Amino acid sequence: MKSKFQPDKNGYFGQFGGAFIPELLYPNVKELEDNYIQIIESEEFQKEYKSLLKDYVGRPTPLYFAKRLSEKYGAHIYLKREDLNHTGAHKVNNTVGQILIAKKLGKTKIIAETGAGQHGVATATVCALMGLDCTVFMGEIDIERQAPNVARMKMLGAKVVAATSGSKTLKDATNEAIRYWIQNPETFYLIGSVVGPHPHPDMVARLQAIISEEMKWQLKEKTGKENPDTIIACVGGGSNAAGAFYHYMDDEDVELIAVEAAGLGVNSGESAATSQLGEVGIIHGSKTILMQDEYGQIVEPYSISAGLDYPGVGPLHAFLYESKRAKFMNATDKEALAAAYELTKIEGIIPALETAHALAVLPKMKLKKDQVLVVNLSGRGDKDLSTYIKHLEK
Ligand SMILES: *Cc1c(COP(=O)(O)O)cnc(C)c1O
Repeated sequence: MKSKFQPDKNGYFGQFGGAFIPELLYPNVKELEDNYIQIIESEEFQKEYKSLLKDYVGRPTPLYFAKRLSEKYGAHIYLKREDLNHTGAHKVNNTVGQILIAKKLGKTKIIAETGAGQHGVATATVCALMGLDCTVFMGEIDIERQAPNVARMKMLGAKVVAATSGSKTLKDATNEAIRYWIQNPETFYLIGSVVGPHPHPDMVARLQAIISEEMKWQLKEKTGKENPDTIIACVGGGSNAAGAFYHYMDDEDVELIAVEAAGLGVNSGESAATSQLGEVGIIHGSKTILMQDEYGQIVEPYSISAGLDYPGVGPLHAFLYESKRAKFMNATDKEALAAAYELTKIEGIIPALETAHALAVLPKMKLKKDQVLVVNLSGRGDKDLSTYIKHLEK
């Protein structure tokens, strides 16, 4: 039986999703839509994808029982170590998969958007691996803020194009990428999260589903049961959460917790807690929940973490929110910083700032002694060291 968390044939999760695209992109999007499931499910793709995930990315990532963190919170807390992937986060699961799909479709030119540069680096990496032409769109302000990632992308052979419109950040980079795509419809748009027009959200979710696929057998090995009581993941666009939730969405006894960035506070005017502040609208080709003003103009989101600083969530997450299948919580900059310091001190793991938001809800939860939780450790904190140093606890 088909899960209600799979999109219908038009790419809708409940009322969310679809493909709101200009006429010129239709053939390109349709080509992908007609082929992506068949490609992903083919033996040839699975063999190549799994082999690259194993030998290039370093999968399976460990499921680590965090003993001291568990003692502190009085529950059984496991960390799914996506931070140990090549390039430092879960993003590469998706870029490896999409580059193989692009190749099967005969595409030679890849474009991508990036905010903090993590998805740009993951895309430039697989383009180098496959010898494909790579152009990454990035907001002018982000180019200044994220110099090391810009240098990485260039070293990997990618062309980095500055988006100079609007706030000169991620949403503007995405607009530029879409504009370029319309002018060059033969290019393959390698989207970095479960966002954009159908079939991108579903395709990215399927490529990140490896996270929960591994969690199942790893939990079985460690606890005797495939299902935890609770899974916690941070949400920017929603790809790491989609991957961590994927194989559990129909198991209603598994509590799913999505954590958004509250910035300076949900109602401070400086926040990225989309589900709390947003309304139904269309952004980047899909109907979802997004932060907008009374005229339907996108409201600038804010978070200390660049990866969570997005004004929408993917349509699957809008549906998980509306249907109450997932519980949406949030964490402020300050709470995330405290959680990052805590994990570093008691487990010796420096998490990405994005990931720290997921950890930051632990003190807000009423945990039971025998409760089994998995926190998806989406990325490592090396890229955030300058922020961590600036806020170093006295
Ligand atoms: C990009 C990023 C995120 C946010 O993106 P999702 O699509 O919501 O997963 C979270 N964590 C890390 C480490 C990231 O790099």
